[in-house]
Amino acid sequence: MDYFDVVVIGGGGTGAATAYDLSLRGLSVILFERGELTSGTTGRHHGQLHSGARYALGDPHIAQECMAETRILRRIARDTIEYNQGLFLAIDDEGEALTPDFIAACREADIPAMEVPVQRALELERRINPKTRRAVLVPDGTIDAYRLAMRFFASAVARGAVVRNFTEVIGIDSSQGEVQGVRVRQIRTGLEQRYACRAIVNAAGPWADKVAALAQQDVPVTPAAGTMVAVEGRLTNMVVSRLRRPGDGDIIVPQRRLSIIGSTQRKVDDPDGLRPLGEEISFLLSSADELIPDFSKQPFRSAWTAARPLAGRSSEEGREISRDISVIDHGKTGKLKGLFTILGGKATTLRIMGELVSDQVAQYLDVDEPCRTALFELYPYDYYWRLS
Ligand SMILES: Cc1cc2nc3c(=O)[nH]c(=O)nc-3n(C[C@H](O)[C@H](O)[C@H](O)COP(=O)(O)OP(=O)(O)OC[C@H]3O[C@@H](n4cnc5c(N)ncnc54)[C@H](O)[C@@H]3O)c2cc1C
Repeated sequence: MDYFDVVVIGGGGTGAATAYDLSLRGLSVILFERGELTSGTTGRHHGQLHSGARYALGDPHIAQECMAETRILRRIARDTIEYNQGLFLAIDDEGEALTPDFIAACREADIPAMEVPVQRALELERRINPKTRRAVLVPDGTIDAYRLAMRFFASAVARGAVVRNFTEVIGIDSSQGEVQGVRVRQIRTGLEQRYACRAIVNAAGPWADKVAALAQQDVPVTPAAGTMVAVEGRLTNMVVSRLRRPGDGDIIVPQRRLSIIGSTQRKVDDPDGLRPLGEEISFLLSSADELIPDFSKQPFRSAWTAARPLAGRSSEEGREISRDISVIDHGKTGKLKGLFTILGGKATTLRIMGELVSDQVAQYLDVDEPCRTALFELYPYDYYWRLS
């Protein structure tokens, strides 16, 4: 039976960053993904590099974290991000009244937010709502969701990590309260294999509870489905957000030659097979028109839905659950040493998620190596295929 120090379950951005981090600390790592790499939430998100401004009023810790990670990604993964800036628009009484507090909260979180005269905002982005009352510039951006994650995969593989896609983890073996390994099934051939390991990282995003259940562990997850709609045409160059407390349909992200409005939030039982609802699409298009009139008149390109891996249980839509990152050491919570679950966060914070869980794994394995993922530029994304 093959042996690795650590098995990572889940080939989204979080799993990729974790595999890279652990490999840099000198550990042998194998990662399993049941589908194609990034086929979970990572490959379907809105594509916004969060400066953190969206969270500044309600969740200053997350706001600060997003800004810090934005600065790091600028160094280590520059070409996977478009640093196109973001414009928050106050278009009603609520937004207008909130503007001073919003700017103060951004600055408190180290986010350089600056109010610009509405006339100037209209010169920068001529399609935005001409009835805008106040406008604030922040350092948001657009992420190439696939390439950013693939740069972490390429860097992990360059450091010796093994990545197996289309391979589902179907069992977790343990003995006397410690993990011993995993059982996997190759999706294409049905072949089942066992791998021995000393630690397992459950980075299965909205499926994390199902993976934990393989080891009879309880992980509180609320899969919260969000829908996005893309229309043809790059209507703005900046990310345009509605200045108000975070809600549905308040961000438009330019992505290549498309403009994407998102998102919505509804609780679902199963994160698989999600489809957009007709009423979500109508709601998003009319919300987009409030920020960019005529958005809905552009040729429709597509609509899709992805599940947020919210860390916590909710009987409602999950809005009250923080987007904060959560690391669960099952040796402490569920009496299974060597199993760690990483949840929550954002695509923007994939690197720090890898760091936080790897810190705990390294400590468990008595490895005295610090995180170094913020120090080096990542390998180009296409090195993944050259090296693996
Ligand atoms: C609607 C929406 C919009 C968003 N917009 C943004 C945004 O604009 N900016 C931003 O920064 N963040 C955004 N996010 C958040 C971001 O998408 C997620 O936080 C991030 O993608 C989660 O990545 P992950 O690797 O943790 O999970 P995932 O990408 O879901 O990866 C988990 C993987 O585990 C695999 N898996 C599950 N079970 C098994 C098993 N048994 N064996 C092997 N593999 C398994 C799955 O196939 C999946 O690929 C958005 C999220 C949603 C839902």
